[in-house]
Amino acid sequence: MLMHPPGAAALSPTTTTADDEGTPVSVKIRERLNAAKKRFNANDNIAEFIEPGELEQLLDEVTQKMEGVLSSMVIDTERDHNTDNTARRVAKMYVNEVFRGRYVRPPSITEFPNAEHLNELMIVGPITVRSACSHHFCPVIGRVWIGVMPNEHTNVIGLSKYARLAEWIMGRPQIQEEAVVQLADLIMDKTQPDGLAIVMEASHYCMAWRGVKDMDSKMINSVMRGVFLKDPNLRREFLALIPQRKS
Ligand SMILES: [Zn+2]
Repeated sequence: MLMHPPGAAALSPTTTTADDEGTPVSVKIRERLNAAKKRFNANDNIAEFIEPGELEQLLDEVTQKMEGVLSSMVIDTERDHNTDNTARRVAKMYVNEVFRGRYVRPPSITEFPNAEHLNELMIVGPITVRSACSHHFCPVIGRVWIGVMPNEHTNVIGLSKYARLAEWIMGRPQIQEEAVVQLADLIMDKTQPDGLAIVMEASHYCMAWRGVKDMDSKMINSVMRGVFLKDPNLRREFLALIPQRKS
């Protein structure tokens, strides 16, 4: 280890990093979240607390911990070539793919003023969504329909943008009921419509692969905002316009 004279050490640019060298990056991120009194549940996005370069370190940390899980499951990752890189693959899948919506900032969406003064019910869907349940980290795969009732002040976003927003919300360990509420809050915030309706229908693989092993059950839930709450006719119109939800 290099020793600095006390005065020189204080000026050295490496002094601060030497301090927290060895501190897992997850601990540093967690400290920032706690200092800001921010929640970091499985389905919360924590991107603003991650500094540039730290996601790579987090990936390394998760890889190490996954190696520990495989080791505790008594899997010989040294001689079993099928699993010798599994810890890294699983870490990448979690951090960079299926739970990416926790770690990256929201997709940039350009909103346009509603120049055409659209004020008719618009329905987007089905949008295929992929997530995992917070309880078992088993896949949740399904479809979402979004009904928007614009007014002249509503921002207009491109159709494909709804799918990108849904992908960001679903790319976290989720609870279906909370996922649709998060998606509704986000779309309300971005577009400010008079009303918003979301229906999500999904298969939960924790019910198919394990547990009751029921292959066919699906969970359907919905969230209604604004005029969809007040106007039963509009609600009926939206639900009638969703194509037959057949698997
Ligand atoms: Zn589950």
